[in-house]
Amino acid sequence: MIPIPDMPIRNTLGIQSRAVWGCSAHRVDDIVQALAYAKNLGLNFCLLGEGSNIVAQQRVNQFVCHQTTKGIVERNRDDETAVVSVAAGENWHSFVMRMLDDGLHGLENLALIPGSVGAAPVQNIGAYGVEAAEFIQTVEVLDEEGKVRSMPAAECLFGYRSSVFQKEPQLCITGVTFRLRTRPSVVATYPDVVQEIEDINSPHALAEAVIRIRQRKLPDPAAEPNVGSFFKNPTMSLQDASDLKKRHPELKMFEGKDQAKLSAAQLIDLCGWKAKGSPALHCWGAQPLVIVNPGRGNAADVLGFAENIRADVLARYGVHLEVEPSVLS
Ligand code: NAP
Repeated sequence: MIPIPDMPIRNTLGIQSRAVWGCSAHRVDDIVQALAYAKNLGLNFCLLGEGSNIVAQQRVNQFVCHQTTKGIVERNRDDETAVVSVAAGENWHSFVMRMLDDGLHGLENLALIPGSVGAAPVQNIGAYGVEAAEFIQTVEVLDEEGKVRSMPAAECLFGYRSSVFQKEPQLCITGVTFRLRTRPSVVATYPDVVQEIEDINSPHALAEAVIRIRQRKLPDPAAEPNVGSFFKNPTMSLQDASDLKKRHPELKMFEGKDQAKLSAAQLIDLCGWKAKGSPALHCWGAQPLVIVNPGRGNAADVLGFAENIRADVLARYGVHLEVEPSVLS
């Protein structure tokens, strides 16, 4: 582990940001050393994957560790499932495609989600009717003595795009263990997927359909700096949803057992935000839930823009939009 002063922070939002100290961690041991180094300096410690879900301030007063650990190990394959342990620094999409090629199923709906495997449990990534938590058996974290311990899924308190790791960011995730299916299974319930899929029985066709939908709707961060969805899809009680629907019948709602989900993209669109903003900072036309920052504005610019959107949606619909990426300061 080589500590670097004034280290640039990798982030897909195109923000120029530096940490007072930082390092790259290629092995879990590097993270253990970095934690001790940060403690000596009296700095908070932050473990980052690909920086695809952060809004970083220009100057970050923390020790920031970019995790690049690699490794995928499969065991206990039978005619139902197999267990796969993955290093947190692996790229999520590459991992999903590798599992598909290895005949291990369940994650197809989550193809092309940006970021690292270690970031997946933090917000319990999900898409098109599937979420990562359905397949997570344990999450490997560093304990206070620098030893890796396995947290069973039940301890991770997974919810809709949420987990214990959001409330306890000091838990350093070093790996994730999944239980995947050895028999093909296809979840094609969302209209976008149903329309796009060519063979309803093929997991490959499912992954390809999801990739095509995402490529059509979402900007490539390499060309148009962004962090994917900037806001969570709001949820509310069925009663509140029904009251809101009476006032605004135009709103799309999806009712679950105790809660209803709204489309944040639709709320933003109905408030006219596809046409607002500037060429340097605006909502993406095909998916206004994504804020793109081609002018490489700083955190204040991006958060200020997001705040204007939130205020509009609140004033017009009384719905609070919650920011999805973490702000790093
Ligand atoms: P969308 O498909 O337009 O859906 C908007 C909202 O409607 C979401 O709350 C979605 O629930 C819900 N919905 C739509 N069809 C549904 C159905 N058949 N059954 C139940 N709920 C339904 O959303 P989008 O913005 O284009 O995003 C596509 C997918 O990617 C969504 O599943 C979204 O959640 C997911 N996504 C995840 C993340 C993340 O993990 N951080 C970020 C961006 C997008 P769900 O949210 O439960 O799907």
